[in-house]
Amino acid sequence: MKRNLTFEEISDGKRYSAGDLAKIGCGDCNGCSECCRVTEDTIFIDPYDIYSLCGGLATSFAEMLDKSIGLTVVDSVVTPYLTKKEQDGACGFLNSEGRCGIHAFRPGFCRLFPLGRIYNDDGSFDYFVQVHECPYPNKTKVKIKSWLGIPSLSRYEEFVRTWHEITVNIRDCAVDNPTLAREANVRMLKIFYETPYDASEDFYAQFHERVLIYQGA
Ligand code: SF4
Ligand code: SF4
Repeated sequence: MKRNLTFEEISDGKRYSAGDLAKIGCGDCNGCSECCRVTEDTIFIDPYDIYSLCGGLATSFAEMLDKSIGLTVVDSVVTPYLTKKEQDGACGFLNSEGRCGIHAFRPGFCRLFPLGRIYNDDGSFDYFVQVHECPYPNKTKVKIKSWLGIPSLSRYEEFVRTWHEITVNIRDCAVDNPTLAREANVRMLKIFYETPYDASEDFYAQFHERVLIYQGA
C-alpha cells in the first residue's frame, strides 16, 4: 500500500534484513491485544495467507468470504482482508482471552507487526520498524527471522517479491487502461485466491504454477 507519510516520520530511519536484530520484542504481548482490536480492515491477505488459513482451518476461500474475509480495493488492486467483529471492531479471530485464535497460521501482516516492508525500485525489499504502532515500553532486540517465524524464509521472501510485482503491475495498468486492470483483477482473484490450494503440497510450487497461468505462459 502506498503511504503519504515519509519513511523518516514512521520509522527509526533504518532498513533491516531478515538476519538483523530490531527493537520489536514486546514480552509476548503480556496481556495486550491492542493491535488486534483496531484492525480497521487492514489485515490484508495474500496467496500464502489464504493457503495457510484454508489449511489451518480446513476451509476454502469461498467459505471464508463474507464470514471472515472481505474484499476491498487498495491502489486499484482487489485485496482480501480479515473482517472485524461487528460489536467491537476487533479482528474476528481475536478470542475471548484476548489472544489470536489462529496464531499458528496467522497472516503475514500480523507476523510482521510492528515491522513493515519498504520496496526498492528493483522489486527487492527491506524491513523497517514502525516506531509509533506498538505502545509496549522498553522493547527488546529480536532477530527479524525469528520474529516472523516463517519456514523457508528465503522462498517466502521470493514469493513476496513476485506478489508485489504482480500487484504493482495491476496498479500501474489501472492508470492507463482501467478496463485491462479490471480484467487482471478478476483473473488474479480467481487464479490466486478462489482456486483451492492443496494444503498437503508445497505452497511455492503451486504459486509458481499459478504465476505461469496468470501470465498466460
Ligand atoms: S500492540 Fe504491541 S504489545 Fe500490544 S498486542 Fe500488538 S504487538 Fe503486542
Ligand atoms: S489474525 Fe490474530 S494476530 Fe492477526 S489481527 Fe487477528 S487476532 Fe490479531
